[in-house]
Amino acid sequence: MEKYDYLIVGSGIYGCVFARQAMDAGKKVLIIEKRPHVGGNVYCEEIEGINVHVYGPHIFHTKQKCIWDYVNKYAQFNRFTNSPLANYKGEIYNMPFNMNTFRQMWGVRTPYEAKRIIEDQRSAVRGKPRNLEEQAINLVGTDIYERLIKGYTEKQWGRPCTELPPFIITRLPVRFTYNNNYFVDRYQGIPIGGYNVLINKLIDGAEVILNTDYLDDREKWDETAEKVVYTGTLDSFYNYRFGKLEYRTLRFDTEYLPHNDNFQGVAVMNYTDRETPFTRIIEHKHFEFGRQEGTVITREYPAEWEESMEPYYPINDYKNSEIYAQYAELAVKEPKYIFGGRLAEYNYFDMDKVIESALETSKHELKPKA
Ligand code: UDP
Repeated sequence: MEKYDYLIVGSGIYGCVFARQAMDAGKKVLIIEKRPHVGGNVYCEEIEGINVHVYGPHIFHTKQKCIWDYVNKYAQFNRFTNSPLANYKGEIYNMPFNMNTFRQMWGVRTPYEAKRIIEDQRSAVRGKPRNLEEQAINLVGTDIYERLIKGYTEKQWGRPCTELPPFIITRLPVRFTYNNNYFVDRYQGIPIGGYNVLINKLIDGAEVILNTDYLDDREKWDETAEKVVYTGTLDSFYNYRFGKLEYRTLRFDTEYLPHNDNFQGVAVMNYTDRETPFTRIIEHKHFEFGRQEGTVITREYPAEWEESMEPYYPINDYKNSEIYAQYAELAVKEPKYIFGGRLAEYNYFDMDKVIESALETSKHELKPKA
């Protein structure tokens, strides 16, 4: 018996936005989630009054007013501005790459001097950049590539920069002003009270079942609803018939320091040398300008994904994109299933892009049928 209009598999941002839109259109929604909590990777856990981003730091940012207005309907956002630092063998540099970084790197003071140095160094690359290394050198020259990009990226992705796609690094802005704001987007912030506030509002009114893996009994779950919104990995949905997609995963080492009220003075410190085994340390209280007596820090260790680990980053190289395309061809032909989100779309999405995708699909899906 189909009791629900939509079964939503996975309670990350995609599933929760879809759920909200469906319920607002009068639909009945069941969400099943294999973890013991809702929210996917934006889930926060409170430790000593500090909202800890359990699955890595999430800083909301968007260029689009409609997406900003959407999230602000469900949570108030603070004015956190992401200005991470890079630590290369004890030397501190400002991120993203800007006049402060260039001054710290070369002692230059003017944009003209910085541009001349980069111009000189980028001549190492000829023609259109074919991989991340060439793209990075083309953007910022060899010095910054060697100290602030190469080690971090190779730790993060577990592959040489020459084998990674150029687009990964174009996420990072390069600018010739003294501006340490990581994002160029007009809107950014963190939900006051953490992401759980936003998620709980989005799913208000839905039935939720936790600790339950849809793939363990898909026939049974499929019968509960007319349509299924699936936000898990697409290769597992199709039983890996074209081979396994690869991901990078992360291990988080979280520590509460009761007698230290400010460990590093910034929310995000990247460790860009190759030898330090973690890529960054997050100090969570700074996301919400916390004034607690202690602090919580998390060291982030990237690793190659294996089954039973959490898949975080899709690896959009040639090999994996080919495999994904085969699964995607099957997926578009499924009348009962809707696939969406970072995992099902195998895409390195920011949160706003996930919301945009869920809003677009739900708009199309929920429009009154003629
Ligand atoms: N990156 C880097 N050095 C840094 C920070 C980032 O080389 O200090 C590169 C790295 O390749 C990374 C990419 O830029 O994968 C994108 O970084 P971003 O901070 O957007 O990654 P996320 O926060 O999504 O993990």
